[in-house]
Amino acid sequence: MVDIADGWHWREEAWGAALQQDALGAVAAHVMTSRSLNFRAQAERDYAALARTFGRSAGEVVRVTQVHGRAIVHVRLGEDVPNGMEADAIISTDPSRVISVRVADCVPVLIADRHQRVVAAVHAGWKGTCAAIAEATVDAIAILGVPPDDLIAAIGPSIGPCCYQVDGRVRHSFLAMTPDATAWMVEDGVARWKLDLWQANFDQLVRAGMRADAIHVARLCTADHLDRCFSHRAEGPATGRMVAAIRLGAPQRRQMVAGGAGSAGASFAGGPGGVT
Ligand SMILES: [Zn+2]
Repeated sequence: MVDIADGWHWREEAWGAALQQDALGAVAAHVMTSRSLNFRAQAERDYAALARTFGRSAGEVVRVTQVHGRAIVHVRLGEDVPNGMEADAIISTDPSRVISVRVADCVPVLIADRHQRVVAAVHAGWKGTCAAIAEATVDAIAILGVPPDDLIAAIGPSIGPCCYQVDGRVRHSFLAMTPDATAWMVEDGVARWKLDLWQANFDQLVRAGMRADAIHVARLCTADHLDRCFSHRAEGPATGRMVAAIRLGAPQRRQMVAGGAGSAGASFAGGPGGVT
């Protein structure tokens, strides 16, 4: 069994192991995928499988071209979002669509409002973290009228402070952003540091106004758990990708039928839960 922080659990979908955070799951249907889907070799098939988990079609899964920046896309009810827009965070107020980011060491952050007005998905590698993309996302949600202390966040599997060695260029980039960054790095040999992207993103969410006890970190290092996760560092750039996806509205769990084969994997097959 893969060691993971309290409040997180693996469940079995039709396509394989999926990770969920319990507090987030109480207010928004979401999933973080495992090695069971790789979103590369047969990406369309994999997006279709992911979509079915939410009771939607692949065309209702919003994807962006991630560029390690600070741009945020807002998905609104009835408005088209062209696939492949360049952004590293997506905010949605549309319960009919699933929003998603792809990772393989970079940090996936899923965010939902307790009152089910908004959800967000964030991709934060070192550059995105250095650009404070998670903080920018909470700021953008606040502009929509949802206060940060109404938000719950899940920081998913990604390369941990145990394995993420960086050089002076990365260190200087962070220190130029904020003196807080000294707390995110420890020396690791000559001109090398270990960087804690989990803590960096956690601190940014708190700085943006979120309650610390509403931020849940999986503390699952991708490079150390290749049985469940893909890792760019450990396996090279050709490895697969994991997807973190979320949809506005509380999950409506379909009753499992004893002996029935058709119900597996349809965890969120209901409607948007009365959210408008
Ligand atoms: Zn590690």
